Order: sequence, then structure tokens, then C-alpha cells
Amino acid sequence: MANSKYEYVRAFERDEMLLPNTWIVVRVDGRGFHKLSNHYQFAKPNDQRALELMNAAAVHVVTTIPDMIIAYGVSDEFSFVFHRSTTLFERRAAKLVSTVVSTFTAAYVALWGTMFGGRSVGGTGKGDSGAAFSSAALVSTGPDLTMLPTFDGRAVCYPTWENLRDYLNWRQVDCHINNLYNTTFWAMVQQGGMTATAAEEELKGTVAADKNEILFSRFQINYNNEPDMYKKGSVVVRDYELVMAGAEKGRGNGNADDDDGEGERGQAVYALSKTQKEKDNKARQKAKVVVLHVDIIKDEFWDTRPWLKT
Ligand code: ATP
Ligand code: ATP
Ligand code: MG
Ligand code: MG
Ligand code: MG
Ligand code: MG
Ligand code: MG
Repeated sequence: MANSKYEYVRAFERDEMLLPNTWIVVRVDGRGFHKLSNHYQFAKPNDQRALELMNAAAVHVVTTIPDMIIAYGVSDEFSFVFHRSTTLFERRAAKLVSTVVSTFTAAYVALWGTMFGGRSVGGTGKGDSGAAFSSAALVSTGPDLTMLPTFDGRAVCYPTWENLRDYLNWRQVDCHINNLYNTTFWAMVQQGGMTATAAEEELKGTVAADKNEILFSRFQINYNNEPDMYKKGSVVVRDYELVMAGAEKGRGNGNADDDDGEGERGQAVYALSKTQKEKDNKARQKAKVVVLHVDIIKDEFWDTRPWLKT
């Protein structure tokens, strides 16, 4: 590269390198999706197409970034977890966050039409004028660029496995609380004919049991029968063969308090020689990325997928 007298400006750059040996979570969240979801007439409280679009974009991110071990999504957000051993971009925060956000956003926009019946995203369309071959003209006379989906992102390091599990638990509990509230609220409005204000007022101070009761007695809705994607959110993971039930036996109590590295549980079931580890890496690359709507708070999810931790 040519040196120039201007090169000294590089010295002004500051890189935040994320703490080594910690689980890195990059969470993306839709900007102004309350408004955007109204604009594109998302079904309330849960638009299935919009959720599947989020999931598809997340599958793309996990597939194209192999250091990603799991992702969890709800509403307009997705949390992407990098393995604590990752050295991607030398763990530079800005690089990691911006790459995840733009990879996610690009896929979200590219897949929008397939989820929303071929309709394109962005305003209402002012008509195209491909003739205008200048950036300024394109922006002013080309397709409407208002109401484009955009996402923000942040990175957080979690030093222990337990901290990471608690982070994911926090998001899934949030999903449950919000979904129970929203399901009840929208039933009262859409089926009960209540105003938003009246429904909100009545729901103030209610606990989960009250909401279940309102749903069941007034609207014959059994919350348990609501779709798992709405109740539990979406988990994106690489799917290997699940560890056989037999291998589960004698593997300790399965508590998530074991953050000393390879871990006793990990070793019992997943002690890998070097060649095995290489094989494992290949399997990781080949493994299919799947979307699940399951409980990730209980140990079972993790106990049957020890490779997520090791
Ligand atoms: P911010 O830019 O601060 O994140 P926001 O408007 O995106 O603001 P959030 O707290 O992120 O606010 O909430 C996202 C909102 O988007 C939800 O409250 C809901 O109204 C809407 N939304 C997201 N996904 C869906 C969906 N699949 N179906 C229906 N509505 C959705
Ligand atoms: P990194 O991911 O590290 O940024 P990179 O391949 O993007 O790697 P850059 O240093 O950013 O490397 O360089 C971008 C390269 O993309 C240029 O060297 C050039 O080859 C190519 N490129 C970018 N814009 C154009 C363009 N308009 N026309 C032709 N080639 C381009
Ligand atoms: Mg460049
Ligand atoms: Mg936000
Ligand atoms: Mg948002
Ligand atoms: Mg949100
Ligand atoms: Mg580049």
C-alpha cells in the first residue's frame, strides 16, 4: 500500500477488543418496529410471516458465521451467541456488531418479498425511473426509501456459562411475559371489542393466572394451545445427532454451574481426541441449521446438546 503523508490519521482509530474467553452476545433489534409493523399491517399480536422472516435472516447469519453457536429471537430482536473461543475480527466489537447487523439486515430485506407475497419493502413505491443515472436522482425519484427495515446492535460479553444461560433465560422469560400480555390484550380488543385504553386499564396489576383466566373464560382461548413460536420464541442452532438417552445417564446433575472450561459433563459425554475434534469441526460446518421453538431455560435442551458448550 502506498504511504502518504495522510496515513498518520490511522493512529486516531480506537478498537474495542472484547474480553477474551467470554461468550459474546450480539443482539440486534428492529428500529421503530412498532410503527413499521403498523405500516406493513403486521397481524397483531403476532404476525407469523414477520417472525419467520426474522428466523430466516437469523438462519442466514448462523449459517454464514460458523463461530456462532446459537441464536435466540423474539419479536423484532435476535441474540447471536459467539463461542467464547472465537477470534473472529480479533474480537473487535465494532467489526463483530456491524457484520452481524448488516448480514442480518441484508437477508431480512432480500427475503422480505418471499414472506410478504412478493410485495417489495420500502414505502409505497414512487415508481421507478431507471433512466436517472445518478445517485441523487435515484434517491429522489427511485423507489420510496421510507419505512425500510433497519436494525441496531450491541455486543455484551458474558464471562461464565451460567451468565450466558441467564442472559438467554432473561430473553425467553421476557418473550413469555410479553406474549401472554399481548395475547390477552389483543383478544380483549379484537374479539372483546374493547378500546385499547380500557383493555390496558383492566390488565393493570394482573398476574399470569388472571390473564389465563380472562383468555379462557371470555374468549375460550387456552393459552397453552397457542403456537410454540409465539410462546417460546425461536432458537436457531446447528443440528447434530442428539445425544442418545443412554449417554445421558451418569452425567451428574446437569446443573448449569459448571463453567470451568471443558466441564465434567462435557468431558463425560464429549471428551474428544484431536482427530475427533477435527471431525467435529467438519461436522459443525456441515450440520444443518434448524429453527426450534422450545424451552431453553430447563437444562434438558443443553444436556442433549453438549456441543453447544464445548
Ligand atoms: P426501538 O427502535 O426502540 O426498538 P420499537 O418500536 O422497535 O422501538 P420494540 O420494543 O423493539 O420497539 O418493539 C417492537 C414492536 O414491533 C413490538 O412491540 C410490536 O408492536 C412490533 N412487532 C415486532 N414483531 C412483530 C410481529 N411479528 N408481529 C406483530 N408485531 C410485531
Ligand atoms: P475486508 O473484508 O477486510 O474489508 P475487502 O476484500 O473488502 O476485505 P477492502 O480493503 O475493503 O477489502 O477493499 C475493497 C475491494 O473491493 C477493493 O480492493 C476492490 O478490489 C473492490 N471494490 C470495491 N469497490 C469497487 C468498485 N466500485 N469497483 C470495483 N472493485 C471494487
Ligand atoms: Mg475497504
Ligand atoms: Mg432498540
Ligand atoms: Mg425494536
Ligand atoms: Mg424489540
Ligand atoms: Mg472491505
